[in-house]
Amino acid sequence: VSIPIIADLHFDLSLGFIALEMGVDKIRINPGTVPNREILKKLVMEAKARNIPIRVGVNKGSLPDSYSKDKEGLVRCALDYVKLIEDWGYNNLVVSIKSSDPEETVEANKLLASHLQYPISLGVTEAGGGWRGIVKSSVGLALALKDGIGDTVRVSLTGDPVMEVKVAYEILRSLGLRSRGVNLIACPTCGRCQVDLESYYQEIESALEEVTIPIDVAVMGCSVNGPGEAKLADCGIAFGKDKAVFFIKGKIVGTFEPKEAIERLISFVKEEAERSGDENVSAFLLSTERDT
Ligand code: SF4
Repeated sequence: VSIPIIADLHFDLSLGFIALEMGVDKIRINPGTVPNREILKKLVMEAKARNIPIRVGVNKGSLPDSYSKDKEGLVRCALDYVKLIEDWGYNNLVVSIKSSDPEETVEANKLLASHLQYPISLGVTEAGGGWRGIVKSSVGLALALKDGIGDTVRVSLTGDPVMEVKVAYEILRSLGLRSRGVNLIACPTCGRCQVDLESYYQEIESALEEVTIPIDVAVMGCSVNGPGEAKLADCGIAFGKDKAVFFIKGKIVGTFEPKEAIERLISFVKEEAERSGDENVSAFLLSTERDT
């Protein structure tokens, strides 16, 4: 694989030596699951010899009993272990402190950032599943990131981890910190909408999932706000009853059957992506050519 691999170690730190030998890119230790400091020191020395970063990852659910179960306790624990590792002569570190409460996560990370300069990995842990987890993660991450706190992010959701990555990316994009991929603008629908906009939206979203170029695409339900949003986007459709107006770069391309307008929009975005050297789309087009 070409993405960095991190070995997340708990209780049996001997696995960390194997992971380092296998070439992991980072290891994570949790102060609440370190069995003893002797083996931790040996592991730190091994990571130091290989210049592999260590994340000191404090989690409220496994905070050692000697610390108070609040933001001060979380921060104190992280600082103690950072100091321990620094005293052993190693400072290639990343730090995280996580709580399942978004507000506590934000406050704890602000306090942490006021005490040290190491990169901070940000996340609301055990946030739950579905919309609840997404809202908690979005609130926690956005409030901290807006204050300039956080160098890597983790969204923690009950369920498919692919969704965690998608949500994390969308949070970064919403904050203007990333721009890769399709930015879909779509209306919530109302009594004026005369089409099944949700299914059109899902069709377009899934067809453009692999696109990596930054591009704004509007999918709108009627002629009230539809033309305005579609004109402002790189391309867009304003749907009406049995017809759809397709826009590219603020200009009307034409009025089509909804199905044809959707096909034209998808083709336009993919061609733009291919022109920009989007490897994902080129591979997709190639495989489509081979299939047909
Ligand atoms: S664009 Fe039209 S259908 Fe969509 S929410 Fe606005 S008024 Fe309703």
